[in-house]
Amino acid sequence: DTATAACPAFDAADTAAPVTSVGEPLPVLGSEVTVPLVTGGNVGYAALDYAASAPALQRVWDDVAAYAPYYGSVHRGAGYLSQLSTELFEQARATVTEFLGCRPDDQLVFTRSTTDSLNLLAAALPEGCHVYVFETEHHASLLPWTAHTVHYLDAPRSPEQAVATLREALAARPAQAPALVCVTGASNVTGELWPVRELAAAAHESGARIVLDAAQLAPHHPVDVAALDVDWVAFSGHKLYAPLGSGVLAGRADWLREAEPYLAGGGASRKVARRADGGVEVEWHRTAARHEAGSPNVIGAYAIASACKALTEAGFATLVARENHLIDKVRAGLADVPEVRVLSLFGEAAPRVGVLSFVVEGWNSSHFAAALSAEYGIGVRDGLFCAHPLLRTLLGAEDEAPGECGAPEAAPGERALNAVRVSFGAGTPDEHVDRFVAAVRELVRDGA
Ligand code: PLP
Repeated sequence: DTATAACPAFDAADTAAPVTSVGEPLPVLGSEVTVPLVTGGNVGYAALDYAASAPALQRVWDDVAAYAPYYGSVHRGAGYLSQLSTELFEQARATVTEFLGCRPDDQLVFTRSTTDSLNLLAAALPEGCHVYVFETEHHASLLPWTAHTVHYLDAPRSPEQAVATLREALAARPAQAPALVCVTGASNVTGELWPVRELAAAAHESGARIVLDAAQLAPHHPVDVAALDVDWVAFSGHKLYAPLGSGVLAGRADWLREAEPYLAGGGASRKVARRADGGVEVEWHRTAARHEAGSPNVIGAYAIASACKALTEAGFATLVARENHLIDKVRAGLADVPEVRVLSLFGEAAPRVGVLSFVVEGWNSSHFAAALSAEYGIGVRDGLFCAHPLLRTLLGAEDEAPGECGAPEAAPGERALNAVRVSFGAGTPDEHVDRFVAAVRELVRDGA
């Protein structure tokens, strides 16, 4: 159903009013880029790797260009440009806080990325914390917790099983020990939506907290921290059409303000004085500034806020309707090609964002992705998508995969542990997914 649910993995309260038109893509940078084909000539580049980095919204670029002449350092200058930049930086914080539906006493820290945000949170966890994380996570949410006791949960085969698996794991947790669950809202491999609200309820019933990795969810669906009842949320600007090196961690203030600053330095410190014994005594801020030492990335934060405004103004109901229309096209197109196997944990019909991975019988996925680029001007991703355990589960592979987030080469006759991923979003025209579907058919028909 292309025109209804705003976020079908969540409950009916999230269902938006029906949208009757799928509308036009939002203007993005790069629409004019052409690339050479091996067959000769140039073709308009079809950027179908939004899940890695989405193109900048034209609106974000325009806003940034308008602000750039007024750029100055924040929280430390008496001059007009410093004052203005401070004002815009704090306005950006307020805009993103509202975009995320945070609670009044939540804190929002500007970071470099989702990876940075989750590492910050990992560094802020209380002593003795137990962390629960599904093996299906992106490495950014799988790996930062190793200084704590980590419980890796097996890949579930349905949203219900995910909740049951978490409940069972949490039931066995040591009483009194602080605990954190880390879960993705939408998989960067399958695109499938996870039952975030239900997982949050399971976490809270057992006294644990939960952080939502919204790197792939926030660009596609509204994220409402208070309604989902998650304790923290993390996402990256470059996947949300704001590619200027900024990310966000937002949520409960208590653990953040008790933790050691993520970086030590100016901006995080309120008062620094020499002690009588010759050392240095520091009083750290208890606001978000505690974890934003150094000169923050004001332009990056400003760009994220601009993207949040642009997406809100376009309306997620409309954006989701358009994206579902594109997803339907890709699904239907690939369903017609028996050699293509779409990867999924929850079933091929499960609700998803515009992210879809697949393997093609008889093809090494790296070669398939290279052919899409060289022969059709289509940019997709191939490899293991920084989710090695999940790929191993989905592909049923036993062996260790060589390479870092890469696409291991298979010897002739061997099956490579990799897949192709196509992903799209608010700036994608129909022509890009139509060309993609036609190219897959042609490549499969013509053989490897
Ligand atoms: N989480 C998910 C689900 C992702 O897809 C990604 C990136 O692909 C990340 C985290 C890490 O994001 P970044 O590289 O911006 O830190």
